Amino acid sequence: MSTIDGNTVLARSLKEQGIEYVFGIVGFPVIEFGMACQTEGLNYIGMRNEQAACYAAQAIGYLTGKPGVCLVVSGPGLLHTYGGMANAQINCWPLLVIGGSAPQDHEGIGGFQECNQVELSRPYCKYSARPPSVGLIPMHVEKAIRYTMYGRPGVAYIDLPGNMLSLQVEEEKIPRQYLVGDVPIIHPQPSLIKKAVDVLIQAKRPLIITGKGAAYANANIECTSLVNYTNLPFLPSPMGKGVVPDVHKNSVASARSTALQKADVVLLLGARLNWILHFGRPPRFDPNVKVIQIDICAEELNNSVKSEVAIQADLKPSVLMLLEEVQKRRFVFDGKSDWWTLLNEKCEANRKAVQSMIDIIEPPLNYYTVFHHLQEAIPDNSIIVSEGANTMDIGRSILLNNLPRHRLDAGTFGTMGVGLGFAIAAALYCRDYAPKKRVICVEGDSAFGFSGMEIETMFRHKLPIVLVIVNNSGIYNGVPKDVYSEIREMDKPSRSVPPTILTTVTRYETMMNMFEKKGHLVTTIPELKQAVKDSLAVQDGPSMINVIINPSADRKPQAFNWLTESKL
Ligand code: ADP
Ligand code: MG
Repeated sequence: MSTIDGNTVLARSLKEQGIEYVFGIVGFPVIEFGMACQTEGLNYIGMRNEQAACYAAQAIGYLTGKPGVCLVVSGPGLLHTYGGMANAQINCWPLLVIGGSAPQDHEGIGGFQECNQVELSRPYCKYSARPPSVGLIPMHVEKAIRYTMYGRPGVAYIDLPGNMLSLQVEEEKIPRQYLVGDVPIIHPQPSLIKKAVDVLIQAKRPLIITGKGAAYANANIECTSLVNYTNLPFLPSPMGKGVVPDVHKNSVASARSTALQKADVVLLLGARLNWILHFGRPPRFDPNVKVIQIDICAEELNNSVKSEVAIQADLKPSVLMLLEEVQKRRFVFDGKSDWWTLLNEKCEANRKAVQSMIDIIEPPLNYYTVFHHLQEAIPDNSIIVSEGANTMDIGRSILLNNLPRHRLDAGTFGTMGVGLGFAIAAALYCRDYAPKKRVICVEGDSAFGFSGMEIETMFRHKLPIVLVIVNNSGIYNGVPKDVYSEIREMDKPSRSVPPTILTTVTRYETMMNMFEKKGHLVTTIPELKQAVKDSLAVQDGPSMINVIINPSADRKPQAFNWLTESKL
């Protein structure tokens, strides 16, 4: 009778259930499992930091709709993933974390890296369990994957003690498990779709908001058709960019504050009324705004603001039914209405303000100029990964997405340090699903620092990521070189260097020398253009462009603070 070990049972179950990518860091007790993954035909990507591995695994989940696996060792290895698990859970992205744990006969007597892993993971998960035997691993794998994908997507954790992974069992005695298969599609109640259109038709100042739920739902064609037919203005959330193309004439992204504040009816498609959308409340929204909300998650309905129409359903069939209903009623919103006139005026005023920043091309460079010329130089179907404070916020308004799921950023949890892990996942996605597409990873210098060593992972896996570091020598802002030298001369940097300051003009691009390659140091626009061109020509590994900008460059003045102040 042939025997099989726990490692092989686990790797085979993952493969059978359609998992393709495992990101992680191996060590005791999961080294053999990492090898088993490759033997069974899974892609294994060894990373340099567990957090980054966890970010990569969740990004591949968002891009493909199937969870990536994050594989880590016991104790500290797993604890390092919690930032990533929380990030995935809060962004509603599918992720499966697998942790090795101390052998069971060492539990309670101070085992190596012994830690109550199942309980500790539970707050960040939809499902957290340790299979009680090798034979039950396939069942737990199916259940965990199902939990990550069904309903509102999220995180699952499976715990495997070292002794279980290495245990040999009789192959024939392991029960076969059925496959998760496709996620069942939840259709909307037809009466609610009619009611939604009743409300929409009455609106004087309607607005569609597309969120990353619409991107994840693959509802881009339906959403774009709805905008095309109705001529309604739309506003994307940060990662909802590209559901309807950013270049679409009905985008009112440049009139965001006015659109939100003045809309009387908001059609909310896969976005939450959380801090990103200012809770749907005054002063950023009209106190009488009527919300038509569509979300896969029933518990999300009526959150923060009571919706006029609340629909629990998948966005793809819902938006299609909305489209059919508006077509039946021939509802087309007047392009000459006061609402469109106001929005167009605001967009134009904003365009002029931005253009005046773009026009300043003398060094030291500002954000707007850098992003404008970067946008001109990159292919317009690129996947853009972006993080950092100003880098992400200003970049979002200038770097365009015309396809869904083509923007990955700090997201709902506002997590910094996600960029390189996300970029690695996006580059693997391109390699396997969209070979000509490029990944442009635009990082603030501080954000880059969280997981900068993942550049080695990019090199090892031959991932042609273009890394652009927008270097202002600090968090939010830096200081000029002479000021920095003066501060550093002081006795104790711990007393004199402000918390937001990093070393001025750090030569990040020289990290490419680690691989006997050359990075690009950029201080002018012609240098930037040349560096992007050279970097796009590199096909077999990362390239790095270190753009030195004015340490006090900032956003143009805003009507509101970025976080709505609490009045309670
Ligand atoms: P954003 O940050 O873009 O506003 P959020 O993450 O806040 O997006 O909201 C996305 C919403 O989309 C979540 O409430 C989630 O439940 C929902 N969602 C995810 N997938 C689907 C789907 N297939 N159909 C409908 N809603 C979905
Ligand atoms: Mg910075």
